[in-house]
Amino acid sequence: MWKGKGGALLWMWGLRPTGVPGKRMLSYDAAMQARNNSPRCWNCGSPGGPGRGDRFFCPQCRALQPPDPSRDYFSLMDCNRSFRVDTTKLQHRYQQLQRLVHPDFFSQRSQTEKNFSEKHSTLVNDAYKTLLAPLSRGLYLLKLRGVQISEGTDDEMDRQFLMEIMEINEKLAEAQNEAAVKEIESLVREKTSVFSLRLSSLFISDDFEEAKEILTKMRYFSNVEEKIKLKKIPP
Ligand SMILES: [Zn+2]
Repeated sequence: MWKGKGGALLWMWGLRPTGVPGKRMLSYDAAMQARNNSPRCWNCGSPGGPGRGDRFFCPQCRALQPPDPSRDYFSLMDCNRSFRVDTTKLQHRYQQLQRLVHPDFFSQRSQTEKNFSEKHSTLVNDAYKTLLAPLSRGLYLLKLRGVQISEGTDDEMDRQFLMEIMEINEKLAEAQNEAAVKEIESLVREKTSVFSLRLSSLFISDDFEEAKEILTKMRYFSNVEEKIKLKKIPP
């Protein structure tokens, strides 16, 4: 009787996870492991307190937890890991996070929480700035994919492009009035937006080599933009 019941139960258990039972077991194990590995709250020691994702505070004692080192900027800023980023959404997320972790809100809290809030806040600032500008966003995406761009690879850059940059720089140096500077500025903006569009499709098709080349060129234009900013400041 009992044996029969047990057998029936086992049979039911065996059948219940429809689809791929092995896979189900695996994901269950992974979830258990993640739970066991998740750090305890530094303040009250409660297990499973601080979690991954958006759990910045311990649900037991409400203490601010240290930043999760495994989290990348895209995850932190709640963006898809792609070159196309909704900058309005990014800005909202930035404000939302700063309202949670900004050091101003921790002046009455423990030194540990003050330190964590400094760390969080710096991280949020860095993430926001990095993902906001197309150049740094592209470079960061490449870095996540393990592709590095070395500094000073001028000799590999095509001559025609270098000539173009030299000409723009000369024009800027010679520009005598605001209108002349504005003209160069709009040219640079146009070039940069063309590069941005190109990058969007390159990242979609995982063409990192070509993306690397475009980003290297973008760096030159970003340099020119910096010079334009300096030139705009009245002496
Ligand atoms: Zn706690």
